[in-house]
Amino acid sequence: MNDTSTGQRIGPFEICVRFRRSVANLMCQWFCCFCTFAFCPVLVGQEAPVRLASATLASQVASIASSASASSGEMASRWPYLERVGQFHVHSTVPIAKLEIHLLYLSTLPKELSTSLAISISEQPIHLVVLDSRESLDSYVNRLLPDAPSRRALYIRHRGPGLVLTYFNPGWVTDARHECTHALLDASGVKVPQWLDEGLAEYFETASSNPLKHVTHGAAVQSQIRYGQVADIQQLEHTDSNTALTAKDYRDAWSITAFALNSSDQTKSAFQKYLQDLQSERAAGLLSHRLQPSVRSWREDFTQFFRRQSH
Ligand SMILES: [Zn+2]
Repeated sequence: MNDTSTGQRIGPFEICVRFRRSVANLMCQWFCCFCTFAFCPVLVGQEAPVRLASATLASQVASIASSASASSGEMASRWPYLERVGQFHVHSTVPIAKLEIHLLYLSTLPKELSTSLAISISEQPIHLVVLDSRESLDSYVNRLLPDAPSRRALYIRHRGPGLVLTYFNPGWVTDARHECTHALLDASGVKVPQWLDEGLAEYFETASSNPLKHVTHGAAVQSQIRYGQVADIQQLEHTDSNTALTAKDYRDAWSITAFALNSSDQTKSAFQKYLQDLQSERAAGLLSHRLQPSVRSWREDFTQFFRRQSH
């Protein structure tokens, strides 16, 4: 259902799903998948199709969105805790006092995106649900998406305000920044290819003054470089957007985003112009082609850039 040539997604809803699964009992990795569905009530991009109660979902999105305009009494009866932080409308079962410090790191995200990417970011509301446990989130999501796998957080797009569902955990701000990056780019009409959407979300999920210090990808890319491997941008550009991205795809998407934004003024400018073209619905072509004039050798420049980060 995606237009793979342009990366544009169609359909009334989009979901980014973030979930954790163990790999060979050795390590846990985060996976996200972007799933699009139009009128067929089947969620694609999972290992097995998931039946989607689309009417229920639509009504739930509308219900949460409408709470923003309800009276304070009505709102309080629906959610124990409500807060507005910039354009983020927080609906929570967790006391706001526990979220406050984390919300500070979320509140700067729209400005970080507009400054780093040189695009305008929509100020339309993003509704952010915070539940108190993974079980509560599973239960909430299962009412909307029966038989769906357990997930850490997800972004649901409907015609109107975006909806991000999360549960409170030590990595909550990372989850929230990741999903809200999807929501903000989407609300701003930046129709990036699926792999790059994840690359940007992975890049901006880090609530740090240095996004190059990603808690998992940073070390993984250093290891990759030591083995003489570099991210293959062209392979990602030709990935079928109906296929779920792998953990390696997420790492590569993050490293390409980090390289484009930080390697040189030329790569940053080329990347920003590419995103501006996508936002303006001008023919943008492939990112690899747009970066080419700024890169002498992809392998050498990519390797040298990340080697510099290890010092
Ligand atoms: Zn994602």
